[in-house]
Amino acid sequence: MVDVVIVGAGAAGLAAAAELRRAGTSTLILEASAAPGGRARTSTPTALAGAWLDEGGAWLHMAEHNPLVPMAQRAGFRLTEAFRGQSLMHIGDRRATAAEDAAYEAAEAQWMTIIDGAPDAPDTDLATAAGAFRHQNPWVPTIEAWHSSLIDAVDAPYLSLADFRLNQLDGQNLNPPHGLGRLLRDLLEDSAGPIRCNAPVRRIAWDGKMVRVETGTEVIEADAVIVTVSTGVLASGLIAFDPPLPAATQGAIANLPMGLLSKVVLRAAGEDRLGMKDGTMAFRMVPQFGDPLMSFIAWPRGADHVIGFVGGDPAWALAPDPRAAADFARAEWRALFGAQADRIFAADSFATDWGTDPFHLGAYSYARPGGAGARAALAEPVGERLFFAGEACRIDGMAGTVGGAVLDGRRAADLILQRGADDPV
Ligand SMILES: Cc1cc2nc3c(=O)[nH]c(=O)nc-3n(C[C@H](O)[C@H](O)[C@H](O)COP(=O)(O)OP(=O)(O)OC[C@H]3O[C@@H](n4cnc5c(N)ncnc54)[C@H](O)[C@@H]3O)c2cc1C
Repeated sequence: MVDVVIVGAGAAGLAAAAELRRAGTSTLILEASAAPGGRARTSTPTALAGAWLDEGGAWLHMAEHNPLVPMAQRAGFRLTEAFRGQSLMHIGDRRATAAEDAAYEAAEAQWMTIIDGAPDAPDTDLATAAGAFRHQNPWVPTIEAWHSSLIDAVDAPYLSLADFRLNQLDGQNLNPPHGLGRLLRDLLEDSAGPIRCNAPVRRIAWDGKMVRVETGTEVIEADAVIVTVSTGVLASGLIAFDPPLPAATQGAIANLPMGLLSKVVLRAAGEDRLGMKDGTMAFRMVPQFGDPLMSFIAWPRGADHVIGFVGGDPAWALAPDPRAAADFARAEWRALFGAQADRIFAADSFATDWGTDPFHLGAYSYARPGGAGARAALAEPVGERLFFAGEACRIDGMAGTVGGAVLDGRRAADLILQRGADDPV
């Protein structure tokens, strides 16, 4: 028995536990996978020959509001500007001219003005919100693919305009020196208390005098439970709720599906870096709506690899087959830099598996058109003892981020703490 069981040891779960324990509340985190961190995972894949990679979250977005920034600074970690490189846009296999770069920037500014000015109600999808401009300007397929498929991990026709506008992630982006997954663990793991890994929760009985949280091998009783798994996991039914969740919570989950952003990493076998500076970004103009956009960051922090990013429907199509994802990345790289360009890479490669990993089932949540209120609805306590937390619950513009998940874990913990000593919890 503990006071509070927390399901999931990602950013929200670790932060919730740390907050509760600071107030003297006992906690136990049950984590399905082999290590804490969740979608903030710094790993050293074999194919990268010793280099580390943030497979999920990498940037400290909205540094001015990100709780991990002051924590990292207090702990003595030096944070650096996340993107300092050059950005190269190509049209087919040639570099865009200065005039084309300027035309793209002007079109993007105009698109943003139209999106900002679109009516609030009724909420529509991001593609429709662009109005006639969507079909009048040749840069819009690229702009849309960039802002929706890559940044929000979902294609524009499926994404709520209100949710897009709310989660713009304005402000400064910073990088920790050794990976965001590692930073999260360095800052929060010790204060989060006991964490049981390889312990997937299967069932939560939540309307008795105690909650009963069941894994395959044990039952833990507690005063309250905070569930921090992704909305993809919640929708999958992998965790049974007894009694079933109220319609409002089920509706919120259905309105917050998971987008997918995948990273495909190719490592240079020799010294050839194609004359490109560390941190150079490269991508191709998207000719038509629905065509995939893969954006590369070459040689990040001087590492000997390039990271290709693909999001939305094209990422879901590649998700079941890492080899197809690598072939796609190589073909894109060839298309950008010529027939010989992918010869510099080793045969082996690495692709993230967020779409197929049963403990995540996507990269981060987005709201369906009309469903932007779902984030607040999911954040509502269910009965007296069941609380949801995590990136999907944020309504402060930080949904889909590690910093937002930390804030949300604390929010859920504070709800429990505020109930006071006389309360049933
Ligand atoms: C490719 C990619 C790039 C990203 N880039 C950025 C970025 O640059 N900056 C940024 O801020 N954010 C980024 N994000 C988003 C960020 O990583 C997430 O928003 C954040 O980590 C989510 O934290 P969370 O605690 O809400 O959920 P999670 O990290 O998903 O934590 C939930 C935990 O629950 C566990 N779990 C699942 N099922 C069960 C079960 N049945 N029982 C017990 N445990 C279970 C999971 O294993 C997981 O550890 C990115 C994500 C991806 C995938």
